[in-house]
Amino acid sequence: MSSLQDIRNQVINCKKCHLHKTRTYAVPGEGNTNSEIVLVGEAPGAKEDKTGRPFVGAAGQLLDELIQRYLRIERDSVFITNLVKCRPPNNRDPSEDEIVTCSPYLLAQINLIKPKIIVTLGRHSTRFFQNLAKVEEESISKCHGKPFYINLSFGTVRVFPSYHPAAALYNRSLKSELEKDFQLLSRLISTSSKSTTLDYFLDQHGPGN
Ligand code: URA
Ligand code: SF4
Repeated sequence: MSSLQDIRNQVINCKKCHLHKTRTYAVPGEGNTNSEIVLVGEAPGAKEDKTGRPFVGAAGQLLDELIQRYLRIERDSVFITNLVKCRPPNNRDPSEDEIVTCSPYLLAQINLIKPKIIVTLGRHSTRFFQNLAKVEEESISKCHGKPFYINLSFGTVRVFPSYHPAAALYNRSLKSELEKDFQLLSRLISTSSKSTTLDYFLDQHGPGN
């Protein structure tokens, strides 16, 4: 079985889809590989492409603030990555083909990290996990802040959908929704070690409510 370092090397050298032709650096992801939380964005932007690191531009700055303010941890305490590892030209949406080709890397990372919670940032990573979990595809405006569950080989993981921080940069009301989601997320995390409390919380706020 591959290690996270192996996956990193595979991503850095990957030529499985045509995005490799236009990238500067592939962006495998970074952070705490023992984290109970993995955050999944869409795809690298310009600054990420130039540095090989996820969420280091303006959206990343907002994400860092949310992690610090609401989760009360630093960004290197969690693992941050993307659904697609190379930048789509002009930041266009990743295509279905690119998602299908690239997402095995994300799943391999998740299977090694074995997080308790996957936070999906934006509609692409949210839709990917909705399909994987075979739950109804709901728009991000409807499903944000409502966890659903996915069965992976190592156990059941909560998927917590939220808005993409880049969208919140240009829209004040989305920013406050994103902040509320992170507040909710912090409560979910602080109760996740106590399963009875967590079950209670999910009964109040979870799927179907
Ligand atoms: N937007 C993303 O989805 N991912 C990044 O890494 C940066 C911006
Ligand atoms: Fe490989 Fe993913 Fe980059 Fe495509 S986007 S070249 S599949 S790492």
